[in-house]
Amino acid sequence: MSEEQGRRVGLNESIFRQVNEQIESLNRDLGTDDAAMTVICECADGDCTERLQIEVSAYEEVRADPRRYVIVPGHELPEFESVVESGSAYDVVEKREGAAAALAEETDPRS
Ligand SMILES: [Zn+2]
Repeated sequence: MSEEQGRRVGLNESIFRQVNEQIESLNRDLGTDDAAMTVICECADGDCTERLQIEVSAYEEVRADPRRYVIVPGHELPEFESVVESGSAYDVVEKREGAAAALAEETDPRS
């Protein structure tokens, strides 16, 4: 894949991350930290709208690292990211260095 494609991959994931951020902050406001919430798969496929269940606190941990995303198991792109955590309902991936990782950091809503 080209550098440009790598950027697009990062961009797709960043858009879903922003949606999920809003879902998460809503859940936090409701005081449902330990409850599972439903978020959208943050994989690189812009057309993927699959949902996954994750505890609010677990999502918060993933979000603490701007290069990490939660995805439906099997949706990772090994060329750009490595699975760092594998659960039954979701996997956590981490971007490797490169355009996608740089963009993930640039677009982190918390930085
Ligand atoms: Zn997906």
